[in-house]
Amino acid sequence: MGHRVVHGGEKYASSVLLNDDVIAAIEECNDLAPLHNPANLIGIRACMELMPGTPMTAVFDTAFHQTMPKEAYLYGLPYRMYEDYKVRKYGFHGTSHSFVSKRTAEFLGKNIEDMKIIVCHLGNGASISAVLHGKSVDTSMGLTPLEGLVMGTRCGDVDPSALEFIAKKEDLNFAQVMNLCNKESGVYGLSGGLSSDFRDLESAAGEGNAAAKTAIDVFCYRVLKYIGSYIAAMNGVDAIAFTAGLGENDGAVRKQICANLAYMGIAIDDAQNAKRGEEVLISTPDSKVAVVVIPTNEELAIARETLKLVK
Ligand code: AMP
Repeated sequence: MGHRVVHGGEKYASSVLLNDDVIAAIEECNDLAPLHNPANLIGIRACMELMPGTPMTAVFDTAFHQTMPKEAYLYGLPYRMYEDYKVRKYGFHGTSHSFVSKRTAEFLGKNIEDMKIIVCHLGNGASISAVLHGKSVDTSMGLTPLEGLVMGTRCGDVDPSALEFIAKKEDLNFAQVMNLCNKESGVYGLSGGLSSDFRDLESAAGEGNAAAKTAIDVFCYRVLKYIGSYIAAMNGVDAIAFTAGLGENDGAVRKQICANLAYMGIAIDDAQNAKRGEEVLISTPDSKVAVVVIPTNEELAIARETLKLVK
């Protein structure tokens, strides 16, 4: 049995067979992921009780990003924050970024070791990663899944001082400000509470709702900026992959994001971009960078990892 565990801290750069030591290590990461890790442990312990003889694994959302170099994962905070408390960028959705980057290389008939790939995991939670020669070298989520892209209800990157400013204006404590950032922000908050679902936002924008259009524009612009920065980080890019609910299904968003990448020689084929639910090359044959849609499959990736460890 394979368990998805959100936070493995710095201890796990790959999946592991579960035992008491691993459970204790996951427990140690509870304060890094207070919403997720305790729940993951409840699931693990319940399954161990029900199926005592069954080998079980922990597959960590953070593991794939453990290859990031220091300059990518350190914040510009006092170094002792990292030394004493391990405050750093960890990144999430690692199972998906790993699966999709590998599939991208296979789909294009290339060796991942020779490739520079940017994976855009765009769902209700959204993150983007730079995968150089098969290894994650940067990703948009941070210590927690709040950093980076503008998401369904999460704000992504914000000037930390804005949070103090809001707290004072609205007389909020830390927990309340974090709740605002996690649950009331993103495209949901930008659209004035209309919806976090792009299908609703797009139909409202089509009917002239300016806030819905702004929310979509802010989302796409943030993704574009991250793509640009990861091209810089890797000194180039061979393929850009879109995945997850929005990345797999929303051709309009993909097209809007890629429009400003024309300077890179990227061109989108509208007929290909209209396809849904399959692996597809959406760039034109003469596009300098391959742009693909690769449906993610975290369950399959977890099952494969588990099989590998159990064998
Ligand atoms: P996920 O978190 O990966 O399940 O993605 C969920 C999000 O994907 C939804 O909130 C929508 O914004 C988006 N989504 C799913 N299906 C579609 C679709 N057919 N068209 C546009 N957006 C979609």
